Amino acid sequence: MKADIGRRYRAYPTPEQEEVLVRWGHHARALWNLALEHRMMVGRKHDGISWVWAAEQCLLLTEIRNDPDDSVDWIRDLPAKAGQQVLRRLDQAFKNWANPNHGATIPTFKRRGTRMSIPFPGQAARIRKLNRHWTEVHVPKLGWVRFRLSRTLGGELRSCTLVRDGLGWHVSFGVHTGSDSAAPNGKPGCGVDFGIKVSAWVSTESTPRHMPPSLTESELLRLKTLEHRKARQITYAKKHNGGKYSNRLRKTIAQIATLKARQARRRLDFTHKLTTDLAKNHGFVGIEDLRVLNMTKSARGTTTKPGTGVRRKAALNRGISDNIPGERRRQLAYKTVLYGSQLRPVPPHGTSQTCPQCGQRDTRSRVGCGREFACVHCGYTDHADKTASIEIEARARRMGDTVIKSTRSPRKWARGRATGTRLRAAPSPHAM
Ligand SMILES: [Zn+2]
Repeated sequence: MKADIGRRYRAYPTPEQEEVLVRWGHHARALWNLALEHRMMVGRKHDGISWVWAAEQCLLLTEIRNDPDDSVDWIRDLPAKAGQQVLRRLDQAFKNWANPNHGATIPTFKRRGTRMSIPFPGQAARIRKLNRHWTEVHVPKLGWVRFRLSRTLGGELRSCTLVRDGLGWHVSFGVHTGSDSAAPNGKPGCGVDFGIKVSAWVSTESTPRHMPPSLTESELLRLKTLEHRKARQITYAKKHNGGKYSNRLRKTIAQIATLKARQARRRLDFTHKLTTDLAKNHGFVGIEDLRVLNMTKSARGTTTKPGTGVRRKAALNRGISDNIPGERRRQLAYKTVLYGSQLRPVPPHGTSQTCPQCGQRDTRSRVGCGREFACVHCGYTDHADKTASIEIEARARRMGDTVIKSTRSPRKWARGRATGTRLRAAPSPHAM
């Protein structure tokens, strides 16, 4: 049985444990890259159709671990169960990419700077409670690692992952709670328009919901200073050290990561509060069925045909990303089930051009490009995001209880690999 909920706690490994974990983190990343490379090579050999999955690679992993060769010492260093779990995660990454409703991009190679993560299956980890606040998790080949029990687990352990981000180590558990979907809560539905200036406008409310700034003025200033410092130090490293990173540069990068992690946590805090409230207090939640990846494409263009307004589009993309629309949808999808509500993604075309009073859709109703809606047919005026949310609610209501099927076509393995923009690091199987 799979985990149906995630729990994340702040972990406090000892300095000796941390040293091992950092080493394992790099090994796990290297194994991911190696396994991905292998899958792509096999795919290429078989005309880009057949794929290797974790079951097969796990056997290979055992074989490599038994090989007396010194060059694979690092694979032996990583606990076997963690290695196998890395391969299973790669399976999941491919499945998510193939799923048209998931929104994940094609699995990519992990760079050194990516978030460190050492996954274990649930059976490999044991938990021991010390007192009200402190608990320990037993990690293979490492021993007991303490973590702060900030909320109860509430189910059976299915997976355990040690993660390091800019704020330090965390342990996340996949938990199987076994809770079924709740009965319909019988509350009125709503439509929500997610935006940038206005983070969210709920159709049943008269005021918008704003996300507080994810960084304060002084933090933004500090981030800018640090980014400049990083750029300067990288230039120096390239000029005088053959590109080798200095300890000072690593320190700057860590300081940036801390700020970014804090920013991410604040965004998530707002998003969780928003989506919980929406799911808990509404019979259905209508949202626009948007393709976030397409929305946040760069305007850079190509060298022969450069795009226009690149900086402006980049700023817009930052605004969209700051509001993490994909994450909001992901949270709504599982929370609506939990609270007896329903998530209804509606076609997004012209939601902010349709009049909620007379139902006429007209581009002229949006005079200029301000945030004002003024119907040219009946004279109704309101904030554009508010009218959009009302239209989204109306569309979601019309949709009714029918099972919602996505209109998106499933991604093709071959097509995705041939055109996969994120796979630039390795040659495309069709380029041979
Ligand atoms: Zn009208």
